[in-house]
Amino acid sequence: METTVLVVGAGGCGLTASIFLSTLGIDHLLIEQRPEPARLPKAHYLNHRTMEIFRQHGIAEDFYAVGAPLEKFGKVCWQTTLAGKGPFDGRVLYEMDAFGGGELRESWSVASPVSATNLPQIRSEPLLRGIAEQRAPGRVRYGHELLDWVEESGHIVATVRDAQGDTTTVAAKYLVAADGGRTVVPKLGIRLEGWPSFHHVTTVHFSADLSRWQRDGALLTYFINPKRPELSGSTLVEMGPTWGRFSEEWGLHFTTGPDDPARTQREAVLARIRDTLGIEDLRIRLHKVSNWSVDAVNAQHYRSGRVLLAGDAAHKMPPAAGLGLNTAVQDAHNLAWKIAAVESGWAGMDLLDTYELERRPIGRRHLDWAVGIIANAELVSETAIGLTPQVPTWMRPTFFSNYFADSARGRTARARAGEVFGTHRIDCQALDIELGGVYEKGALVPDGTSAPEPEPMGDIHVPTSRPGHRLPHVWVEQDGTRRSTLDLVSPHGFTVIHGPGGAAWAGAARRAADRIGVPLTVTSPTTETSGAGWAHRLGIGDEGVLLVRPDQYVAWRHTGAPADPEAELARVLDRITFR
Ligand SMILES: Cc1cc2nc3c(=O)[nH]c(=O)nc-3n(C[C@H](O)[C@H](O)[C@H](O)COP(=O)(O)OP(=O)(O)OC[C@H]3O[C@@H](n4cnc5c(N)ncnc54)[C@H](O)[C@@H]3O)c2cc1C
Repeated sequence: METTVLVVGAGGCGLTASIFLSTLGIDHLLIEQRPEPARLPKAHYLNHRTMEIFRQHGIAEDFYAVGAPLEKFGKVCWQTTLAGKGPFDGRVLYEMDAFGGGELRESWSVASPVSATNLPQIRSEPLLRGIAEQRAPGRVRYGHELLDWVEESGHIVATVRDAQGDTTTVAAKYLVAADGGRTVVPKLGIRLEGWPSFHHVTTVHFSADLSRWQRDGALLTYFINPKRPELSGSTLVEMGPTWGRFSEEWGLHFTTGPDDPARTQREAVLARIRDTLGIEDLRIRLHKVSNWSVDAVNAQHYRSGRVLLAGDAAHKMPPAAGLGLNTAVQDAHNLAWKIAAVESGWAGMDLLDTYELERRPIGRRHLDWAVGIIANAELVSETAIGLTPQVPTWMRPTFFSNYFADSARGRTARARAGEVFGTHRIDCQALDIELGGVYEKGALVPDGTSAPEPEPMGDIHVPTSRPGHRLPHVWVEQDGTRRSTLDLVSPHGFTVIHGPGGAAWAGAARRAADRIGVPLTVTSPTTETSGAGWAHRLGIGDEGVLLVRPDQYVAWRHTGAPADPEAELARVLDRITFR
């Protein structure tokens, strides 16, 4: 058979690539070797940028309908155990607002029109599958494995094996490798830079009723065990489908050595869960135990001819700040409009080179960030309350007793620990990591300004309309409807947003777009609902203009009125479409 894009792998990356290509009217085939979506809970946090993208493609509400609402997951918590009879059992050591919840709500809602949500991959993949199948009937095929391919005469010719063992040939113009790095990267021999398999984790997925002991609102509960240091560092994650303490399913992640029986033996796994939670007789239904290694690697190239790597195929990172899946979705978003632009004839093939130019530094940024979080996790576990490796087990009760004491000494212990726990904001309050990824080179025209200096802890996001940044969110009114500036951006082409005094841009933009032959819409919201002038908040002033790409990134800006706006825009459009 023939198709325009062969997408290999129906994880979060491949499924979203399929959905975005469908929105853009690009014929494609998505193949997945497994007979059905994954049964591993894996990633669960869908961050603000991902939800903005889902909103643009009309699927955000599907996720909010079943995902955890912010009040049920906007906190992380450190506890000794959930229950138990010891004097320090079931005690909360520290908790902090997370992911835009609690006190973060106001400042984070200024930055984005959406909130994040939480939905583990066992639930998000079937949801994405349903949407992908609905938007591309018959083009999402499970039980189909890519065996091999060759690139010849400007085409990919792929050999695909179906569930019956029969092989067929698929001819495509592009191959999007969203295969988690399993098949395509090894065959291409692309080098992975970084640290492979540097950390081993066991993830246990189970059902249990924890409602008597668990409190509402904490997506992640980290344990620091009063008696047994080997139980510290384990993390309990809510898996739904009901959210909060009535969650039916849970995930427990813990670090294991190669000989740890809790990696393989059912009884040892059950004991590990009960001991960590401090509930001796807890009834548990075990679904799955997976032992996996954490990688921090970035592919040296994201493009090889007509093959484009996305998601875990391009970069693998520790499961911190939920960056793995979110970065994968954002790769798909970046790639889909570029393939659509080239295929629709309004951009040259070189536009595809900007995919690597833009996304590879982001892959590096996110994996470095996730590695930093893993390093910090040591600090915010036992060490936060003074339990350094030199402290013998017999001394542990003293530390817990001091920590909880209603005395000056206890207050100092808690205040000191609070400062240490506070560094965990690099994981759960990293708004700038979610929204502030910048493209310095790519399908954009720099304006000579410098990017705002990023806040080193990643928790303060400074919006800017500088080219290469995500368009800042501002609430505006358009045709009597309250909309985010992000809602003004069409996924089908460029969007020109001009200030209230910049009407000259409108006609000039349309003429330039017609001349060059690119789809472009022009908008200038009329009524201000956001207090200060929206155009000033966007950084363009009354007479300025922004040229925004289909993926809501700013391609170019001009803050005044040039002598010949049409010529200026034509020059810019020509440059960023590589024709
Ligand atoms: C146990 C586990 C727990 C994790 N927990 C977290 C977490 O808590 N937070 C987080 O952010 N990240 C986590 N991750 C990482 C996160 O799940 C990934 O970053 C994310 O799933 C990447 O999505 P993807 O679509 O790129 O790749 P994948 O989800 O790996 O999907 C790749 C797909 O390609 C298919 N495939 C491979 N080869 C072929 C072929 N030849 N033909 C057809 N299909 C093929 C595979 O079957 C698979 O379905 C975890 C990963 C694992 C393994």
